[in-house]
Amino acid sequence: MRNLYIHVPFCDGKCDYCAFYSEPAPDGAMVRQWLDRILYQLEENAPRLKRTETVYFGGGTPSILPNDILKRLFAAVREVVPAAVEVSIEANPFTVTPEKAAVLTSFANRVTLGVQSFDPVLLDAVGRRKHAGPGPEEAVRNLRDAGLRNLGLDLMYALPGETPELWRHDLELALKLNPEHISAYSVTPEPGTPFAGRVAGSPEDDALSGAMWEQAGVLLGAAGLPRYEISNYARPGFESRHNSNVWHGQTYLGLGPAACSFDGADRWTQVSDLRAWLDGAPPEIDRIPRRARLGEILMMGLRTVRGWTRREFEVASGCGWDDFSTQLDELAERGLVTLAADAVAPTERGLAFWNDVAESLVFAP
Ligand code: SF4
Repeated sequence: MRNLYIHVPFCDGKCDYCAFYSEPAPDGAMVRQWLDRILYQLEENAPRLKRTETVYFGGGTPSILPNDILKRLFAAVREVVPAAVEVSIEANPFTVTPEKAAVLTSFANRVTLGVQSFDPVLLDAVGRRKHAGPGPEEAVRNLRDAGLRNLGLDLMYALPGETPELWRHDLELALKLNPEHISAYSVTPEPGTPFAGRVAGSPEDDALSGAMWEQAGVLLGAAGLPRYEISNYARPGFESRHNSNVWHGQTYLGLGPAACSFDGADRWTQVSDLRAWLDGAPPEIDRIPRRARLGEILMMGLRTVRGWTRREFEVASGCGWDDFSTQLDELAERGLVTLAADAVAPTERGLAFWNDVAESLVFAP
């Protein structure tokens, strides 16, 4: 397994727009049980993790774990993943006190802060919870003081009431914090969330959201963080290695409830229920027919600006893309990809309309 993902399924409440699996009111016993099982599974999988190069702690809110739990978790991962070159952890700014920053950076060399927006009115509009504790500026200062060199900020746009001017202002505030990486996603009303219920019936403004996506590309690109994936921007050399590996068809092991894994042939997803996961509920296994799997690998790499070289695709998939030449030719004719003998990459239009690219490759006859 080239990449390891650990899902930390705890938050202190639930944001109205959130569809990620997390327990909103974890108690100490629950967290310790989760840790014990993760430590056991790390041990069990140790032989498959010797050459793993990236580790990603996602959630939920990994940074709300108490410091002693984080230290035990980090020690165990460090031992079974000796070759890790990139260790990322998601953090909520309010948790990042100087002490927490020291613990996080004792193992993670990449921290992404879930800022979402600097505008409290916009955050209210999507039901993002507020907390006492450090704001984004203070959290960044604490992480930099602790020696962090690779800082990411996560933002959302197209929030209800947001105008291009407000979005520009958020991007400018984000850039003032000098991050190496920015992820920016448009808010989506995920079915079943309170936010989706609130906006039901009001049509999504795709044109406005598309304009904000373009705006992010221009503004962040001019500031030295060019887009390298549909929703991700980085200073050169600071692209997320974990995500880039996953987009390029590499194997990954996911531990924790709701975590997904891919071994090059099958994909499996752990149950989205902490109690059931602790009780050993089996994962749901997705046996993907060969052609669909190749189409998926090809389309995921086309989320990235660099796309694929023929050689890289051959290594990831075990064969070339000749089976998809009709679809790739057609996508090139529609201006969605550029196609050469040994490389294929999305155009800007192909990134903006990636769903069309994906549909054409995954449902290829
Ligand atoms: S902090 Fe993140 S994972 Fe937790 S409820 Fe809010 S959006 Fe969901």
